[in-house]
Amino acid sequence: MSEPPRTLQPASTPSRGLGAGAGEGGLSAPTRHPLAWRDAEFYDEAALHSELERVYDICHGCRRCVSLCQAFPTLFDLVDNSSTMEVDGIAKADYGKVVEQCYLCDLCYQTKCPYVPPHQWNVDFPHLMLRAKAVEFRKGEVPASRQRLTNTTAFGKLASIPVITEAANAANRSPAMRKLVSKLLDVHPEAHLPEFHSNTARRRVGKLSSHEVSPQPAGTTRGRVAIFVTCYGNYNMPQVVEDLVVVLRHNGIEVKLVERESCCGMPKLELGDLQSVDRYKQDNLPVLAQAVAEGWDLMAPIPSCVLMFRQEIPLMYPEDAQVQAVKRGIFDPFEYLMLRHKAGLLKTTFVNALGRVAYHAPCHQRVQNIGPKTKELLALIPGTELEFIERCSGHDGSYGLRNDTYALSMKIARPVSSRAEKFAPDVVSSDCPMAADHIAHGMKDHQNAPAHPISLLRRAHGI
Ligand code: SF4
Ligand code: SF4
Repeated sequence: MSEPPRTLQPASTPSRGLGAGAGEGGLSAPTRHPLAWRDAEFYDEAALHSELERVYDICHGCRRCVSLCQAFPTLFDLVDNSSTMEVDGIAKADYGKVVEQCYLCDLCYQTKCPYVPPHQWNVDFPHLMLRAKAVEFRKGEVPASRQRLTNTTAFGKLASIPVITEAANAANRSPAMRKLVSKLLDVHPEAHLPEFHSNTARRRVGKLSSHEVSPQPAGTTRGRVAIFVTCYGNYNMPQVVEDLVVVLRHNGIEVKLVERESCCGMPKLELGDLQSVDRYKQDNLPVLAQAVAEGWDLMAPIPSCVLMFRQEIPLMYPEDAQVQAVKRGIFDPFEYLMLRHKAGLLKTTFVNALGRVAYHAPCHQRVQNIGPKTKELLALIPGTELEFIERCSGHDGSYGLRNDTYALSMKIARPVSSRAEKFAPDVVSSDCPMAADHIAHGMKDHQNAPAHPISLLRRAHGI
């Protein structure tokens, strides 16, 4: 299938009216234009402002997304408080206030907006925000503290040196040190920070006993999985990666870890630092594409990392064959397990009940359009009562950590935390471990540590 043309914006600004076959309520499937991030015009501030004005005006007339995040209320407040009460009354210098509030969850594009391509209005709000962030980054307007915070691989490597692991975790718990961290890394003193582990996922999995299986292909799965461990998986939640390996092997799947990897690039994408995303892509793609060519399926335990390889990197490199191969070859863990279940290849003998589970489906998994596979699988486990929460947790990478956005992110999380609290769960769970921690952090009376769904599945299997 040929890719749609690379566009920065429509050739002419569309009028408010429905185009034949491409209007609101049209039957065409939503599509997405590649990101023209290598074109000079992408970084042209006047062109950007003109596109922001066009799209802000459409959003002002629509206002469907008002409850999704803080970006839309910020925009509508700017309009309503302007002299004209229209977008032309907003100072261009204030356009960035909206951009600052977008954490690229993609929900507005994927779940709400009727004006996405092929509609003639061609609204792609998240990618317009990304373009504005990239312009800001190129102008040197992103603070150094925020850039440091998104160096996840470097942080993880440093913090996994045993003596530094202890120091980093102790610093996390010390109010005095958290004030220093707040200045150095722009992390709010009250934000939940994950623990670091010197016994990384790679070290743990390396110690597991060898496991011989005869991989059985089924549908689009080949029964052989190479895991992209992820920075967070390796340094912050090594137990979850180990659990993933054990669960896959228990279900007759051959497993290995991808030989080497860099960050998927999502933290840098959220910053608008597309050169760093490009650098990580150059590191990762040859290794991942080779694994696919050698007959491995790919998997990552964090939805945002899967989304990078499934959507964002392919939109940045639409012509790159390796990128397209990796896009086709990567899976969400529960999507994969449910595909195996469909073919009768999932073990459904569960020996442990999970009790009451407040399960949250993260945005970056929802927008992959794979359906609620984690919920479906957990529902197969006897003695498990699920509260299924499909609402933004407000964490979204650094948004839930930063000094200027922590309070807003807690406000976004409040309805999710309240719903979980009302359910009185035994455990809080989300495929996104940062979201699970953020939700639990907002719950007053819940003491148990959150658990990743793959760890719950291992527990249910009793393995
Ligand atoms: S991508 Fe997410 S955070 Fe950004 S404007 Fe859309 S809903 Fe809000
Ligand atoms: S992104 Fe689309 S649905 Fe959301 S407010 Fe703008 S035009 Fe409306």
